[in-house]
Order: sequence, then structure tokens, then C-alpha cells
Amino acid sequence: MRKQIAAANWKMNLTLQQAEELLDELHSIPYSLDKDQEVIFGVPFPYLAQVEQKLAGRNNVYVAAQNCSDKKNGAYTGEVSAEMLQSIAVDYVIIGHSERREYFNESHTMLAGKINLCLEHGIKPIFCCGEPLAVREAGTQNSYVETQLTESLFHLTAAQLTGFVIAYEPIWAIGTGKTASNEQAQEMHAHIRSIMANQYGADVAGSISILYGGSVKANNAKDIFGQPDVDGGLVGGASMVAADFAVIINSLK
Ligand code: PEP
Repeated sequence: MRKQIAAANWKMNLTLQQAEELLDELHSIPYSLDKDQEVIFGVPFPYLAQVEQKLAGRNNVYVAAQNCSDKKNGAYTGEVSAEMLQSIAVDYVIIGHSERREYFNESHTMLAGKINLCLEHGIKPIFCCGEPLAVREAGTQNSYVETQLTESLFHLTAAQLTGFVIAYEPIWAIGTGKTASNEQAQEMHAHIRSIMANQYGADVAGSISILYGGSVKANNAKDIFGQPDVDGGLVGGASMVAADFAVIINSLK
């Protein structure tokens, strides 16, 4: 069975002290994880290791970096490599978040390179895709997302994509309070799974966890996660409110 995942994306928010307080508060609220369920915290680089330590011993709870360099190593001041993340045992890396595509000009090819480096270093990518509002309004979201998948993922092997994690995040729903409807989410998730099935077969496609991201909140997580092709969520704002994120975790299938 594919994994059901509640992934937090803290973005460029929270100091180390605030992050520790948030985790303390979250862990004072009961939430339970089955064997196919995971919680992932997308943590800023400077305190990935501290958060990892704080989470040590918790089953099915992992940390993610929010980005990594597309270069292996060398004279790239300010960059963080996949190898560095491996050296501190980071489990996941969020790749191709729309904020990085938009503000840092990350191209399909660059994202493909980052994914390769993650996989070479035993780190699991969480590959983000999703259309802007103008594309949704034009009704061309399916082909837009298909291009994102083919350009950044189709060089991978079936083995590399087995158990892979994709996050569908319509840009018009991120941080806007405007969530995709259950039907819109299910339709796109089914589309993503069929694209992967056409290229890699039903078994590989069925093993891929496809998370929904875009204003997931405590009051809508259960309905969205209940859609057959939605395998949890990538959550920004609500992941930084302990009580809300606990409800979101408990909404996993
Ligand atoms: C995100 O950060 O990827 C995101 C979906 O944010 P929010 O939940 O705040 O819309």
C-alpha cells in the first residue's frame, strides 16, 4: 500500500526556538500513525539537525529540507548540496516548490538534476507540480502539469519512481485560503497517476504517494485526503499551528 503523508512546509518561518516550541506543543497533543502513514517536517537548513534530534525515536516521523543545490559540490557560495544533507541523515527534500520555480527561476531541467542528486545520495524527493491561476482559468492545467512531470521525472527508471512522492499544489491555492474543491483535487491527482501509469505501468503509478497542497486546513483535510487518489497533503500555514496540524495528521487515511 502506498504511503499516506502529512508533510509540513515551514518555508522561511520560525526561529529554532519557535520551531522547538511548536514541536513540543504538537507532541503534547495525541496523534497516532499507522504503519503506512508518515509525518514529514520541511525545516529551514540551519536547524535541520536539531529538529532531527528532537524527533529522534518517533516512528514514521521524518525531516525534509526545502531545497538543495543542482550542483554536486564546489564554488557555489551559499548553496547546500544533497551530499551535505545526506551527511546529516536528512530523509526527504522538497523539490520544485512553486515559490522556488517562480522566485528563483528553477527550470524543469534544473529540477531533474536536483532529483538525480537526491537519489544518488539516498534522499527522497518530494516533487512539487501545479498550475498558476491563468492556466486553470484557461482550462489547460492537465497539459501544464503533464509537461512538469515529463520534463523533470521521465528520465527516471521505474525502480526509482516506485514509492516516489509527488505534491500537486495549484499555485492559486497556496497561501490564499482558496482550496481546490475535492473534485478538482481528485481529478488532477487521477490525471497525474494516469500519466505515470502510461509511462511506467499501473504498479509503479499505484505506489506513488500524491499529496495535495494549497490551503489545507484542519477543517478541510479529512474531505480532501478522503479522495481516492489523494494520499495526504503538503501543508504550509496550518502546519505551524500545533492543534491544526495534529488534526491534519489525524485526517490521513
Ligand atoms: C505550501 O507551502 O506548499 C502550501 C501549500 O502552503 P499553504 O498550506 O499555506 O497554502
